[in-house]
Amino acid sequence: MNEARSCALPGTPLAQAAAGLDACVHCGFCLQACPTYVNLEDENDSPRGRLVLMRRLLDGDIAPTDPDIGQHLDRCLGCRACETACPSGVPYGELIEATRATLAPIRGLPLVARLILRVFRVHVVLHTALFFARLFRNTRIPELLARHVPRRLGFPLAMLASTRARSIPVAPLVNSLPPTSLPPSKLPPVTLPQSAASTSLLTGCVMHGLLRHVNHATEETLAHNGFTLTATPGQRCCGALHAHAGDIEAARELARQNIAAFERSNPDTIVVNAAGCGAMFKQYGHLLQDDPVWAARASIISAKTRDVSELLATTGPVPGLQPVPVRVTHDPPCHQMHAQRVVTQPMKVLQSIPGLELVPLEDADQCCGSAGIYNLVEPDTSDAVLSPKLRRIAETHAQVLATGNPGCMMQLGAGLHLTGSDTIVKHPVELLAESYRGGTRPA
Ligand code: SF4
Ligand code: SF4
Repeated sequence: MNEARSCALPGTPLAQAAAGLDACVHCGFCLQACPTYVNLEDENDSPRGRLVLMRRLLDGDIAPTDPDIGQHLDRCLGCRACETACPSGVPYGELIEATRATLAPIRGLPLVARLILRVFRVHVVLHTALFFARLFRNTRIPELLARHVPRRLGFPLAMLASTRARSIPVAPLVNSLPPTSLPPSKLPPVTLPQSAASTSLLTGCVMHGLLRHVNHATEETLAHNGFTLTATPGQRCCGALHAHAGDIEAARELARQNIAAFERSNPDTIVVNAAGCGAMFKQYGHLLQDDPVWAARASIISAKTRDVSELLATTGPVPGLQPVPVRVTHDPPCHQMHAQRVVTQPMKVLQSIPGLELVPLEDADQCCGSAGIYNLVEPDTSDAVLSPKLRRIAETHAQVLATGNPGCMMQLGAGLHLTGSDTIVKHPVELLAESYRGGTRPA
């Protein structure tokens, strides 16, 4: 948008990002990709409808305090499936974050969102909260209670319960194993990469606090693939929750702390096993583009960031050693598939595991309804988006649902638990690590 044109919100993040609005030709190709439109059937809850609302906000046709407009914008999951579907290259993710950053100071954020964002911003508070959450989870009370209390309380309890490490169910499958299954002794010889780049893991808040077994599996699989791991002390929350909610200054402050931490450890590659955090790190260059001190430094950190599946795919990955005879379906996190455009690499990780039966998931490209803290602040729409996903998972008869993001792991784990499903949720690297553990690392 030309800012010389009449603008009701001059100087705001939305006004600065408004050129992206002009790219929309209102073709509607994005509509069927949008989970809120598909489930709510309201044009105002579609990408095209929301882009019109953003334009009308800028033109002053509607007030930023209008509660109806705010509701339609709040209901956006920020999944960015519309970006993948859009033939005109509309930067929807950038636009919705700019809109929220514009509206948050005017409308304020819900109390629950303010509390959660505050906790994730203060490192010591966050880690104390996660410590007590871990203790509470280990009592098994959340697991036992979740189905017997109202949804508002039961769903968060089930999310917490879902972070407990589970054994992979390796009961014999109904179907015979696929022909790629080989006993360890007949596995082909493999060559490990010779020159390993130094790699440092973004340990993450929730991954480190509640899903530490996933971090261990990540480190095991990377080491097995020849990568040298270095520690990066001083890491903080990546800021994704803050950016998605419109608290852009908090996101920038957390980004600066992470950039400084990874500059000190200076790895060749920053590896991330949480798709939402990986997408955020890759956006640091954009987030701090107007900061003269941090812009170039942020771009370097973004350029070094890789999803763990991207990194493993560069080495094959090295095939698994021990068969893992389990039926698995894969649900790609939106911030892996749509925001990072990492699509084939997680499948390569799963396909490298002998004995594993990978079955396709219908509508896998649709969001699960997690979207950061969306499932806590917009529970009704989140449930509406989650329900068809759970039906699709049930149709696969998979024993394991693999997905590479803690938010999706907890959302899907909670949904499966509350519906009485036996399907468990695993990160893809957990399955690969299981296969490596069962055999001997080649010389
Ligand atoms: S966002 Fe893209 S796909 Fe959707 S209506 Fe606009 S131009 Fe078409
Ligand atoms: S980000 Fe997701 S929920 Fe939001 S408009 Fe795009 S497709 Fe719909």
